[in-house]
This record gives sequence, C-alpha cells and structure tokens, in this order.
Amino acid sequence: MSQMRKDVFSGEWVIFASNRKNKPYNYKRGSGIEEKEDNICPFCPENENMTPPAVFELKDSNGWEIRVFDNMYPALNGQEFEKDSDSFYESFNGFGIHEVIVDTPKHSMDIANASEEHLYRLLRVINQRLNKVLSNDMIEYVQVFKNNGPYAGASISHSHCQVLGVPVLTSEQEAAFAVFEKYRDKTGRCIMCDMIKHEKEAEKRIVKENDFFVSFTPYASRQSFEMWIVPKRHVQTMSELSDDELKSLAGFLKDMLIRIESIRKGISFNICIQEKAKSTKDGLFHWYIRLLPRIGSWAGFEYATRCFINPVLPEYAAQFYRNAVNNK
Ligand SMILES: [Zn+2]
Ligand SMILES: [Zn+2]
Repeated sequence: MSQMRKDVFSGEWVIFASNRKNKPYNYKRGSGIEEKEDNICPFCPENENMTPPAVFELKDSNGWEIRVFDNMYPALNGQEFEKDSDSFYESFNGFGIHEVIVDTPKHSMDIANASEEHLYRLLRVINQRLNKVLSNDMIEYVQVFKNNGPYAGASISHSHCQVLGVPVLTSEQEAAFAVFEKYRDKTGRCIMCDMIKHEKEAEKRIVKENDFFVSFTPYASRQSFEMWIVPKRHVQTMSELSDDELKSLAGFLKDMLIRIESIRKGISFNICIQEKAKSTKDGLFHWYIRLLPRIGSWAGFEYATRCFINPVLPEYAAQFYRNAVNNK
C-alpha cells in the first residue's frame, strides 16, 4: 500500500511506500565503500523469474539486451486512484506506474563504458517507456532517473534506470514550469534558450558543445559538480529529439559520464531526465538532463532551510570537467 501526502507548509508531495523496506540491497552495508556484494542478482539473465514478467524487451541474437518490467517494490502502484477524505490534509491513494529498465545483461557494466550504439538504443527505450507511462490517463508527470551507486540511492548494482509516473505535478516541476511561463510572458522567449545563449557568451561554466547539445554547470547548483545537458534546439520533450539528435546525445552523455567518473573512481551519481508534464502549456518547457554526482549529503541547515551550502563553485567544476578528458 502506498500513499501520497502533501506537506501543508511546503506544498511538497511525499510518497509513503512501506513495501519498499523489503527490497533487496546488494551493496556492502555501512562499509562506506562502494563495493558490491556477490548476492544473486535479480537483474541478471537467467534470473528473470526473480522479477515480474517483462513489459518490453529489446533483443539481439544472444537474448535480451535491454529489459523492462514493473518495479517489484513500487513507490506507487496501479491501485485505483482515490483522493483521501481527510478534510484538513490532502492525500491520494498511491496510484502510479513504476517501471525498471535493466540497461544491459552484463552484471558489471558501468554505464559510462557502454558503447555509444548501446546508449543510443537505451535512450530510445527510455523514450518509448516515458511515452507509454505518460499515455495512461491518470498520469500527470513522468520522471526517468538512474541511481548509480549506493550514495545515489541504488540498492542493486546491476545498471538500471527507473520510470516513475505520478498522478500529480510535483512541487519542483510546478515551480520550474511557473518560471518558464513567467519568463515567456515577460519576454516572449524561453528562459533555457536564453540561458544557453548567456552561458555561451560567459564561457565560464560551459563544459562542452557539439552540433546539437551543450553541457554546463548551472550557475546556482545545489550539488557540487552538478552538470546539465541541454539540447540547443528548443525541444520540450524527449520524443521531439530527432534520430540524429538522439545518436548525438548518446555520445555526448557517455563523454559527460566519463568526466564525472574522473572526479573519483566508483563515484555515485544520479541522472534525471527533466520532462514537461502532461498539462504543461504547449511549447513552454525546454527539455534537459541533470547529472548529479553525489558528493556530500543534506545536513541540518539544508533540511531546515532548503538553502544549500555548496563548497564547489560551478566555474571550478566546469574547468575541472573541461580538463578531465582532453579534446574529447
Ligand atoms: Zn546482475
Ligand atoms: Zn528553449
């Protein structure tokens, strides 16, 4: 049973999913070392019976290459959508769709070492699942994310992504879309398109640029070494990317992940694909990817104030990333 409750002070939704405390964990607990334990891995080929049946498989001559199934321990599940009757608080029964995309049959594959061709196929599968989950009438917003490593929230080391469709607009998205709208009303332009222009002129935070994409460290990032990958064309959803752009993105993403892994070996990181919501006004949003190396964690001040203390200036992080891989 899961439930979404809205915090009356912050307006933020919280998902309560008591079933998730039973999910398997195959990193060494409490060791502080990002080492993997040799438990039986439910995401490896021949262990498919340990997970729900596939809802999609991309196959090659050796079997599946990418496998998608419903999360066995969903944060939200497909129960009837039901608003709670409490008159003071707002809540929903936890309707949602939560899928797992196993990126590869290879247990130890590091996503940054996957071939560009494989990453391209993975991006295509992600795009397909995103659209599939969003096509459900009850789903308002879909978050695709990867938790890579135990400090990024991963419980299983075998490389995978997750697709989580929720029935309400989350507060982070609501706030971001409002900013896009306000800026467009005021200027007639897209704030992200203008940000790209500004960053290119300023040069200080740009990591790399190719024909289709630009990466930079955001001006006021909460997390040290946060990086964004943004299409130069005003594209509001992943599915608006052309095939050429998706192919380019595969290589660009791989390059950026290699730079992140140069911070230190085995670093945990999240990849978050920032999409528009179903109800977002047409043409308003500018699609992008956030890459979040996990260095440090929220402390008391951050929890209390949501004002983050970041010890690494984005200008330094960009310089580090530019120097991390020569001439790539
Ligand atoms: Zn495995
Ligand atoms: Zn734009």
